[in-house]
Amino acid sequence: MKSTSYNYGECEICNATMQEKLIKQDFWIRDELIIIEDIPAGVCPQCGEKVVKAEVGRWVTELINNSERIAKAPRVSVPTIKFEILI
Ligand SMILES: [Zn+2]
Repeated sequence: MKSTSYNYGECEICNATMQEKLIKQDFWIRDELIIIEDIPAGVCPQCGEKVVKAEVGRWVTELINNSERIAKAPRVSVPTIKFEILI
C-alpha cells in the first residue's frame, strides 16, 4: 500500500506531529498470534503513540477475520519462554 500522506494531526499525549509509517501489529486470535505488517499508521516521533485511520482499522479487522488467508499465511516461530524468577 502506498503512502497516503494522510494528516494524522498531533499526538494526544505529547502534541508532537504524527508521522506516517508502516507498522507491524500483532493480534491474538483464538490462541494464535497473528502479525500484520505494513499497516499505514500515524506514529508519534517522541513517545511512539500510534493511531490508525478508521478505514485502516476496518481493513485490519477484515484481515484478522479472514481465516482462509490466515491459514495460507507463512508461519514464523517466535521465542516462547515461561515466566520464571531468576536469582
Ligand atoms: Zn507523543
